[in-house]
Amino acid sequence: MKKNFKILLCLILIIMLVACNQENNGKEELNGAVDGQKMFSYNSGKYIGKAMGHNGTIEVEVEFSEDAITAINILDNEETTTVAKTAFDQLPQKIIDEQSIGVDSISGATISSVAIKNAVLNAAEQANGNTELLKKSIEKEPKTETIELEADVIVVGGGGAGMTAAMGAEQKGLSVILLEKNAMLGGHTAFSGAFSLITGSKLQSEKYGITNDSVEAVYDDNFKNGGGVNIPEDLQLYSENMGPATDWIDDYIGAPTPNELTPLSENSINRAMIYEDAGDGLKNALAAKLEETDVGVHVNVKATSLLLDGDKVIGVEAEGSDGTKYQVKGAATVLATGSYGARKDLLPETLNNFVYYGAQLAQGEGMEMAQEIGADVVNQGYVELFENGVEWQPGIAKSTYNGSMAAWDVSGILVDRSGKRVVNERTAGINIVKEMAKQEDGRLFLLMDQATYDSFESNITGYGISQELLDRWLENNAKDPPYFAHADTIEEVAEILDIDTINLQKTVDRYNEFVKKGIDEDFGRDADYLTEPIGEGPYYLVEQKPRYATTLGGLKINKDLQVINTDGKSIEGLFAAGDVAGGARGNDSIPGADVGWALTSGYAVGQVLAEKLGGN
Ligand SMILES: Cc1cc2nc3c(=O)[nH]c(=O)nc-3n(C[C@H](O)[C@H](O)[C@H](O)COP(=O)(O)OP(=O)(O)OC[C@H]3O[C@@H](n4cnc5c(N)ncnc54)[C@H](O)[C@@H]3O)c2cc1C
Repeated sequence: MKKNFKILLCLILIIMLVACNQENNGKEELNGAVDGQKMFSYNSGKYIGKAMGHNGTIEVEVEFSEDAITAINILDNEETTTVAKTAFDQLPQKIIDEQSIGVDSISGATISSVAIKNAVLNAAEQANGNTELLKKSIEKEPKTETIELEADVIVVGGGGAGMTAAMGAEQKGLSVILLEKNAMLGGHTAFSGAFSLITGSKLQSEKYGITNDSVEAVYDDNFKNGGGVNIPEDLQLYSENMGPATDWIDDYIGAPTPNELTPLSENSINRAMIYEDAGDGLKNALAAKLEETDVGVHVNVKATSLLLDGDKVIGVEAEGSDGTKYQVKGAATVLATGSYGARKDLLPETLNNFVYYGAQLAQGEGMEMAQEIGADVVNQGYVELFENGVEWQPGIAKSTYNGSMAAWDVSGILVDRSGKRVVNERTAGINIVKEMAKQEDGRLFLLMDQATYDSFESNITGYGISQELLDRWLENNAKDPPYFAHADTIEEVAEILDIDTINLQKTVDRYNEFVKKGIDEDFGRDADYLTEPIGEGPYYLVEQKPRYATTLGGLKINKDLQVINTDGKSIEGLFAAGDVAGGARGNDSIPGADVGWALTSGYAVGQVLAEKLGGN
């Protein structure tokens, strides 16, 4: 009986095991099959997938086995390296790991990320894969933990100001944590032309031989350019620290510098310098040095609010892109969160017709976090305006700066919808912006003959406008913005944009008369830019709209870069540097004054904190 019972038990166990195994097999089959199809089934091989990125088509080579994506290589693309590189480096592996394009995009490089995913999808279609399955979203465990961190100094934002502030304080022996919401460091600083102002530096006197510059001279030039609405205390702080900051960046950071300075009409003395390889070069130098330091860098972590102990700021609350919560505490918190240019609601209505050419990272979070605890702001309505944007997406611009400048060297002219010139095309940009603002849709049009267009085209491609984009815009022939119209005759090109054809022809004839005489009797265009008549067609009309990225207002600070509240008192524990701190630059900034302000104020706050918190 006992023996029979044992046999029965064994049988039951075997049946259970078989059943269990079948169930598992069933599950595996379920995992491996959708509607009777094998789950990931591809025609194995390598396929080239394509999708539209930020600046043009991104091509990827995707290798498939019979049931998986095994490799993704990024091929041709026109993306801005400084932004897209992190997506190129990280996203392919994420897709391979999850066998899905439903993985999160790389923060700060969303458009390039989406393009990579779409290109993989395109390759999968060619490999006859189950694309619905490939799009499956990845379920993530909700994060419940809160990570607590502590250091002497908390820096929020990893652009030029944040990186210099963090390294300046760390060099003086303070412990520092830097939070950056994007997956990559650099902010707008990395996109910039990296023009900077270097008054009072050894670099200016010894390398470039300029010995007659002074704090007073740079103050006066910036005050004049800033319309006199600069906060004197902030501009003084900027002017005094520009030299030491420049030399510190040269000596300590080692950012490569050019062979010569760039003379600008806004500077009475030669002091504008473009770091080698522009923003990318400057960012790379800062980020490389940062890696050598003990600064605790946390990317993909966004500060959401300031932590208070009574009236004193003792750090920030933050959230990781994976949902992890952070409480980061320190004796001093430095806001270096950059501009609020991407936030139309924080800007005056007068800018509604103008277009934004910066990155979406400029959301003004630092300014708003501080305002929530009573901080005051100054000059909030001011942005740095340029006269050469094309509205390629609603409200969003690309710059034709280099192309437009090249067009004035040949025979480009600016006309309004009535077909008339309205301004000297070579005057200061702000005067052109004023004329644009008078137009109903904020646009003027750059008229070019074929020779001028050739020069325009060869000078704009490569600066965020790829040949591919340009070809698309031309093919569209001004059916939609950006308006790039072309036709064989002046009359035809004018008709496309509803510009008065008779007036436009008269304008061309009159301009050509001025070229013959060497005098622009209407607007005084300099004779140096009046050498070529408007000649052979085809003819082109390209829209030009005012564009902006950098905001010039922001948190009110004192000479120690401490944030001031609406009662005029400094907020204990809270500091600001870079674009988030308003006042130094007034209502307009000299080219270079913005990167200069980010680097100078970042460096300066590091020194102030070392003094206040007992660094060495
Ligand atoms: C295309 C372009 C070209 C330019 N060219 C020039 C030039 O040649 N010369 C010049 O002087 N100026 C130029 N500027 C302006 C200049 O780049 C900026 O004024 C300057 O770089 C600002 O530096 P910043 O450190 O204050 O801000 P940013 O460099 O923008 O850095 C701010 C950082 O803070 C991060 N951040 C924001 N909020 C949070 C948060 N809540 N938590 C964590 N992190 C956060 C952002 O992601 C960003 O990385 C240009 C701007 C653009 C867009």
